[in-house]
Amino acid sequence: MEIIRIDSLATAFIRPVEGVNAGLIHTPKGMILIDTTSSPAEIKMLVEAVDANPEEVRLVINTHFHSDHTWGNQVFNCPILAHRSCLERMQSGLKNEWSPEALQSYLSDQEKTDPKKVDDFRRTLLDLNITLPNQVFEERFEGELAGLSYEVIHLGGHTPDLSVVWLPDRRLLFASDLIFQGRYPYVFDADIPVWIARLSHLMEFDALVIIPGHGVMCAEAEITALRDYLQETWDLTHEHIRQGHSPDETAADPAYSRFAEQKYERLHHANIRYMYNQIIG
Ligand SMILES: [Zn+2]
Repeated sequence: MEIIRIDSLATAFIRPVEGVNAGLIHTPKGMILIDTTSSPAEIKMLVEAVDANPEEVRLVINTHFHSDHTWGNQVFNCPILAHRSCLERMQSGLKNEWSPEALQSYLSDQEKTDPKKVDDFRRTLLDLNITLPNQVFEERFEGELAGLSYEVIHLGGHTPDLSVVWLPDRRLLFASDLIFQGRYPYVFDADIPVWIARLSHLMEFDALVIIPGHGVMCAEAEITALRDYLQETWDLTHEHIRQGHSPDETAADPAYSRFAEQKYERLHHANIRYMYNQIIG
């Protein structure tokens, strides 16, 4: 992990290889935490790594419902802010894929393929008490803490509930999973055309620093690279469907460009198939 002091206020926790990023904004009246990673133990470790105390966190922002951004929520005894649809999606998760029965059956499936991962996941579940956001907003939330202005802006794309966090005075943008830097993106809850449009929109922020949800701090070149990958994959898939090709024939086309030096290459075909299904509706 890399701990990056972006300026006198902001710290980014960056995991370039595996895992998810998070951000911490320091103010004289306490801290704002952006996303809580995959587990209580993980987020506690990050916050304590900068000699901060979880009790100093005055506000947690969940950028979207995915478990690697929300499952550390229980550590914090403060408002947890998210878009209304993030709360709704997490409520639905608790009844469905995050229910004790569903998690147990996930563990049994994984036991056969990756026992080490199952051990780690079992340990996480022992301590886990999935905690919901307790403050929601509709399209945009504008707040201030100790004179520091911040905006949480609902954009969707990667997931329908996704929001970015923008510090206008510092021109600092926490882009969440709208940006995957250096690896294939996870698209399986995405609306691809919305995502492509939102990546173009991110350019308009004219940010000095962009912290992605996954990967290292990046610039407009990385936004363009991801937008081009999504657009080209989407367009070529459209063309295959127009020609009546099956999902297998489509995914096998070598003309699809590879992304991010093929890191998380297993998503190459899976992403094509997801787009195929989204296009045929
Ligand atoms: Zn995500």
